[in-house]
Amino acid sequence: MQAAWGTPSRFRQAGPGHCRIGILALPGWSARPLDPRQAGCRPAGRRDPDDRRELIDIANYYRQDRCGRMVVRIQVCIIGGGPSGLLLAQLLDLQGIETVVLERRSRAHVLGRIRAGVLEWGSVELLRKAGVGDRMDAEGFAHEGIYLAAQNRGFRIDFNALTGHRVMVYGQTEVTRDLYDARDRAGGRVLHGVEGVALHGVDGSDPHVTFTHDGTEKRIDCDFIAGCDGFHGPSRRAIPASVLREFERVYPFGWLGVLSETPPVADELIYANHARGFALCSMRNANLSRYYLQVPADETAGTWSDDAFWDELRRRIPGDAAETLVTGPAIEKSIAPLRSYVAEPMRWGRLLLVGDAAHIVPPTGAKGLNLAFSDVHYLHEALTRYYLGDDAGIEGYSGRALARVWKAERFSWSMTTMLHRFADQGSFGQRIQEAELAYLEGSAAAQTALAENYVGLPF
Ligand SMILES: Cc1cc2nc3c(=O)[nH]c(=O)nc-3n(C[C@H](O)[C@H](O)[C@H](O)COP(=O)(O)OP(=O)(O)OC[C@H]3O[C@@H](n4cnc5c(N)ncnc54)[C@H](O)[C@@H]3O)c2cc1C
Repeated sequence: MQAAWGTPSRFRQAGPGHCRIGILALPGWSARPLDPRQAGCRPAGRRDPDDRRELIDIANYYRQDRCGRMVVRIQVCIIGGGPSGLLLAQLLDLQGIETVVLERRSRAHVLGRIRAGVLEWGSVELLRKAGVGDRMDAEGFAHEGIYLAAQNRGFRIDFNALTGHRVMVYGQTEVTRDLYDARDRAGGRVLHGVEGVALHGVDGSDPHVTFTHDGTEKRIDCDFIAGCDGFHGPSRRAIPASVLREFERVYPFGWLGVLSETPPVADELIYANHARGFALCSMRNANLSRYYLQVPADETAGTWSDDAFWDELRRRIPGDAAETLVTGPAIEKSIAPLRSYVAEPMRWGRLLLVGDAAHIVPPTGAKGLNLAFSDVHYLHEALTRYYLGDDAGIEGYSGRALARVWKAERFSWSMTTMLHRFADQGSFGQRIQEAELAYLEGSAAAQTALAENYVGLPF
């Protein structure tokens, strides 16, 4: 059956003697942290979300310990100002839990990273709950399905009909911008350009983070450290090798991605299996398209001219889509390696890993950003319970998050395996992939399973 490709018109609309925290260095203060619940430092529970006074300057937050020494501390120190760190800060703020976010890069750099583009509906609702859904609702595109194709012919999976749910196409850059704007409005503290971030005492009751900012060495004492610093950040490495278990699969190919200011070729994403390799037609908005080609792992983006990219894309996608493809100059061209990775546990003492710091998925199932957000959901709930006097959420965080992580890992792996060309698969493997796609095309049960995973399993 030939797919009826929708048209773009269907788019809708311290060191010793000094306790330094944040920008202040306070001579003579010790940095011994308190348990705020025992010391009564901080009223637990909700605060009027409009009352930002206590967040304006984190150095205001200090108390005397039992020995009369001044203690400066923050409740949750978040390492990493990517989407997971910012969303966690935003949700905790709404619960009256104060945070500081430490980000290695400039804000412009973080906002310039072209990455994910598809939000599960659970992510959409979480962003709304965090008070950052307005622009997404106005400018994002709700998609009710995807197209799958094999050997230039395709069919559609109707998420809405099969599950009653949709996904939202709204770029990670836009999500991140909305979160930064919200942190600004709330007077939230995000320190950019921090260097040498190091975690200390995470397996005890006195965790703290040291770093250099604006040429000054600083230290933040906290109740918890949230490691939201991506795959290459320092947080996961703070867990001893004797404790950390790592599970990994590295795929022998990558995705060559092109962003172009052209109308998308279809109203929904096209995932194409082809003997020459996988291709994906995605988008960001009505005049911004994102296309990908499977390429060997050692390929470099610079060896691909724009014309070579478009020619290869046309070969791999269904013929009627190829005929209507509008091409233009690539405004961004890069290669992303594909990897499946999980680190266990996601909690070590008072360190809690979130998002890419703990797990990576190949982007085939559009799960990376969404998994980061489900971690944030579990963690903000756990921390909220903690400050209401209940430790169970923190203790159960790793198990709860990992249960969902592994299901998303399985789905991302299965989509990758079904759609990509593997060097050793031979003609047998190709026929198996084609049979799997044919089965999907004819089976409502198989389509429902795919749709349920793609729109996102419940948090
Ligand atoms: C090239 C690429 C393409 C992708 N495409 C897709 C896609 O199409 N679909 C999809 O679903 N997912 C995609 N992903 C995955 C998705 O972008 C991630 O899952 C998502 O960004 C995870 O968010 P995060 O906040 O956990 O981590 P990150 O976005 O990695 O943020 C971590 C932050 O921590 C900061 N940091 C790192 N080290 C330090 C340090 N020492 N000190 C302070 N800060 C530090 C980093 O600068 C960064 O800002 C892609 C990822 C990459 C790399």
